[in-house]
Amino acid sequence: MYIPKKNYFLLNLEMRNRLGDLAAVSHILAEANIEILTGSFTRGTGSRPGTWQIFVQPLNATTAEEMKKLLLSCPDVLACYIKESRDGLLVDSLTFPIKISSGQRAMIMRNDVWNSMLQKTREKFGSGGDVIIYEQGNMAGRMTGKELLMALGKDKVTQQLDQIVAMYQALGWGRAKILNFVQSPLSMAIRMWDSAECMGQISDKATGHFIRGHIVGVVEEMYSIESKCVETSCLARGNQYCEFVLEEKKRTIPK
Ligand SMILES: [Zn+2]
Repeated sequence: MYIPKKNYFLLNLEMRNRLGDLAAVSHILAEANIEILTGSFTRGTGSRPGTWQIFVQPLNATTAEEMKKLLLSCPDVLACYIKESRDGLLVDSLTFPIKISSGQRAMIMRNDVWNSMLQKTREKFGSGGDVIIYEQGNMAGRMTGKELLMALGKDKVTQQLDQIVAMYQALGWGRAKILNFVQSPLSMAIRMWDSAECMGQISDKATGHFIRGHIVGVVEEMYSIESKCVETSCLARGNQYCEFVLEEKKRTIPK
């Protein structure tokens, strides 16, 4: 974070799992004239403490030491780590690793960085680049499919496909919607608006190879089929959205 000419702090708090713990700490900060700028909170499970990472700005001359003492005086705060900005700049070196809600380690990548990586792969390897990108997406999709099967099972996933497809939005890949779904023989169409992969691309062919591979990977793992997916509409070709049509080729023996 960079706020020119401002002095602010990053607090990484371990919180006791108690209803109202967040309110208690917010109240202490407000009473001390410390403003919360932004943050993220995760409730702990079982005996694990909750974590709260917040950027705060004191409206007075509170020091890091004073703030730490103040926060540790609250019974809801089990541990407190503080980092102070220097010349308006503060890089979060307290929160590591980043985790998604399922508890797995994750990383954040800027959309434009990923987009230019894909573009470079296409420039360098031509249609071979498309295959590489497709295979990467397919592998990612297979992992997702396996996890969904384990966590929810095929029936629940099928019943809640609209929720499952919303994961593309939750991950920042694009806003997706299932247009139709038939289970046997399996066919499905997904429309995606603002695809992170195809935005800003200009091509006479569809460019959503990673997402196309991902859809195939998820579906093949989930339903034990072989399938073919075609991107029939694409932002890169000047269409309003990307659209993926998947059809079953053959049924394989369930694993
Ligand atoms: Zn596309």
